[in-house]
Amino acid sequence: MLAPEEIQALSRTVRGPVLTPDSAEYAAETFAFNAAVVHRPDVVLGAEDARDVAAGVRWAAQCGLPVAVQATGHGADSEVQGGLLISTRRLQALQIDPAARTARVGAGVKWRSLLEASVPHGLVGLHGSSTDVGVVGYTVGGGLPVLGRAHGFAADHVRSMEVVTADGALRRIDAEAEAELFALMLGGKGNFGIVTELEFSLFPLGEFYGGGIIYPGADAAAILAAFRQWLPTLPEDASPSISLLRLPDMEFVPAPLRGQFVVHLRFAAAAGREEGDRLLAPMRAVSTPLMDTAGPMDYLDVDQIHMDPADPLPFTDAGALLKDLTEETVADLLALAGEGTDCPLLLVEIRPLGGALARAGALPNAVSGRDAAFLLFLLGFKMPPIAEAVQASIRSILAAMAPHSTGYTLVNFHGEPGDEADRARAWSPAVYEWMRAAKSSYDPGNVLRFGHAITGVPA
Ligand SMILES: Cc1cc2nc3c(=O)[nH]c(=O)nc-3n(C[C@H](O)[C@H](O)[C@H](O)COP(=O)(O)OP(=O)(O)OC[C@H]3O[C@@H](n4cnc5c(N)ncnc54)[C@H](O)[C@@H]3O)c2cc1C
Repeated sequence: MLAPEEIQALSRTVRGPVLTPDSAEYAAETFAFNAAVVHRPDVVLGAEDARDVAAGVRWAAQCGLPVAVQATGHGADSEVQGGLLISTRRLQALQIDPAARTARVGAGVKWRSLLEASVPHGLVGLHGSSTDVGVVGYTVGGGLPVLGRAHGFAADHVRSMEVVTADGALRRIDAEAEAELFALMLGGKGNFGIVTELEFSLFPLGEFYGGGIIYPGADAAAILAAFRQWLPTLPEDASPSISLLRLPDMEFVPAPLRGQFVVHLRFAAAAGREEGDRLLAPMRAVSTPLMDTAGPMDYLDVDQIHMDPADPLPFTDAGALLKDLTEETVADLLALAGEGTDCPLLLVEIRPLGGALARAGALPNAVSGRDAAFLLFLLGFKMPPIAEAVQASIRSILAAMAPHSTGYTLVNFHGEPGDEADRARAWSPAVYEWMRAAKSSYDPGNVLRFGHAITGVPA
């Protein structure tokens, strides 16, 4: 239990609000996009700048409290109970350098704001399926981009960062200044420090073709068979993914699709109309689409490719990296999640990896999964009356996929962190062992221990 003087000591050293559970603004400051998760830290600090973050970490260390960080709550896979939560959403600095093709963003900036600033310069960053996600939380988790097969992971393109480490020091690091810490931060997902500012490369925006095709779920087997045949014909600058969707009768779903079981093919390519149409032609012929939005796209409409929910929802999720997508893999998946099953999951998604995602970046980092061919991602509502059925379905699909899996996940798609053995699966074994050894020197007191936390090797 913290004494009022201890809370006041923090308030005196920072510019941002310091809130406790009895403060009126506490619920809003701790709110997560994943509405199934309600954080209950002892104290939440709404950091106004990097110095606030550093002061918060130093104060927590003095009080013996662990520290968590949140920007948007899109990655709230588990609850923060006790300790200090540092909210970074006020850190909204955003600078584009069109000549150098770089961006520098504060820890609270979302991908949407970045794109709104960069697209007028003809430049884009390596965001994922939803631009409502925070740039920093996504990138420190590796960052699997919509155009990943063309450019690799977002973490591969970070130039420098400003970070507060567990000792409360604010450091500017890059591939030369504190190279190991820089590498650990990129994929290590908040285990080694709290980023306050990130500088990364942008890419020229040429012609862009994107959108989705929605088919009747009854044709899932034929569509997935065609998808398997089609993938090897695509160039690296085309990135598709495919999902089995059981769409709820909710407002975020387009009216004609509410309550339906459908297959959703997503497609993004650096291509004009003719080339995009040519690439997609085999998938347009496989079944009669219920909806087809694919075509030349204004880049700021990029969220229309995946159509992820824009408003907070209570969800739980889990992922698995697959070695391949064989006929058997598809059959095993459809037996549990296809037409006629009672699968309660909102989304069963397959994202092909490969291309630049399979190649190491120019600099070493803690991104895992380059050896996998596909990411399988499962998501369902975490609310009564289906929460238990959702968990059971996730467990049985992961068990059925185990023979097809590498045994590991990507930390951004790992879902709820379980025990230590489960959390270890969020990285490949070599990366995990490196991180464990490093954790003991960069965070010996295990101050940063929420979420996908790793534990250092005992001295
Ligand atoms: C709708 C949706 C779509 C998504 N699509 C993709 C996708 O296409 N590709 C992909 O790779 N991921 C995707 N994700 C996963 C997402 O990238 C992660 O959940 C990411 O952690 C979200 O970051 P955030 O800051 O928005 O979330 P938060 O919940 O605020 O943060 C989540 C975690 O990120 C870390 N973190 C956040 N800020 C900092 C910081 N300043 N310093 C250090 N660590 C920090 C911490 O570990 C924190 O617990 C998606 C998630 C959702 C909900």
